[in-house]
Amino acid sequence: QSQQVGFIGLGNMGSRMANNLIKAGYEVTVHDLNRSAMKLFSERGILTKESPFEVAETSDVVITMLPSSANVLDVYTGPNGLLRSGNVLRPWLFVDSSTIDPQTSRRLSVAVSNCSLKEKKHNRETPVILDAPVSGGVLAAESGTLTFMAAKICNNLALAVSMLGVSEGFALGQSLGISATTLTKIFNSSSARCWSSDTYNPVPGVMEGVPSSRNYDGGFASKLMAKDLNLATTSAEEVGFKCPLTLQAEQIFMELCNQGHGTKDFSCVFRHFYSGKDE
Ligand code: NAD
Repeated sequence: QSQQVGFIGLGNMGSRMANNLIKAGYEVTVHDLNRSAMKLFSERGILTKESPFEVAETSDVVITMLPSSANVLDVYTGPNGLLRSGNVLRPWLFVDSSTIDPQTSRRLSVAVSNCSLKEKKHNRETPVILDAPVSGGVLAAESGTLTFMAAKICNNLALAVSMLGVSEGFALGQSLGISATTLTKIFNSSSARCWSSDTYNPVPGVMEGVPSSRNYDGGFASKLMAKDLNLATTSAEEVGFKCPLTLQAEQIFMELCNQGHGTKDFSCVFRHFYSGKDE
C-alpha cells in the first residue's frame, strides 16, 4: 500500500522538497498558511488542506518545513494541529526538517510519543517523530541532494562565520583593486575555498543561479540565519560554552534585520554590511 505523504510549509525550501516527492511518485497533500504558496500546488492538481489537522487525517507520513520553533509548535500542538483528534493518529511518522531549538524538538517528541495510532504500523503502536533539519540551501532542495542531520545549529554557526569571512575577504580585496571574479578564482583554488565561495558566492554577478545574482531574493532569509545564531548562542550559554564569533555573527545578522533586510538571503551581508550599499 502506498504511503500518503503530508507536507506542511511550502516556502523556499519546502516547496522544492514537496515537488521532489511528487516527482518521485508519492501522493502528497500540502498545507501552508500562505494561500498563494498553496495555489502553486492546487493549480497542478495536488491536494491542499486548510489545516495541519486535516493533513494528518489523510497522511501516513507528515513532513514539516517551517521557519521557527513557535510555528512548529503551532502546527503540531495548536488547536487545529497535527496532534488533535483525541491523540489517536493516522500518521505513524512525523519528520520535522525545520531548524528549531533542541528543547522544542524534545517537547514534540514527548507529545508525539504520548499519542497512539489508529492502526498499528511497522509493529508500532505509537507514532515516531524525527528531528531532521537539512543543509544545502535552495539549490540542494531543488536537486534533491539535501543533507539531513542532527547538529544543525553547529553547522549554521560555521556557515554564518564562513559567509562573513568570505564577504570580508572579498570586500577588502575589492577595496584594494582586485575584481570579485579574480578573488573567487583565487579563493577557490586555495585555502579560503568553502561553500560560501564556491557554491553560494555572495557577490552579485560572480555565479549564476544563486541569490546574490537575483538581488538576494529567494534563498535563506537573513532573519532565519539570525534565528539560528540565537539558537546557537542560547544553547552555548546553557552549557557554559564561550562562542565569541557566533555572538558577533548574531549581532551582524540582527543588525541586517533591523535595517530592513530580514527577508533577503543571508549572503546580502556582503552588500549591506561590507559594501555599505542600501537599495
Ligand atoms: P520560508 O520562510 O521560505 O518558508 C516557510 C513557510 O512556512 C512559508 O511558506 C510560511 O507561510 C509557512 N508557515 C509559517 N508558519 C506556518 C504555520 N503555522 N502553518 C503553516 N505554514 C506556515 O522558510 P525556508 O527558507 O523554506 O526555511 C524553512 C526552515 O528550513 C527554517 O527553519 C530554516 O531555518 C531552514 N532551512 C532553510 C534553508 C534555506 O536555504 N532557505 C536551508 C536549510 C534550512
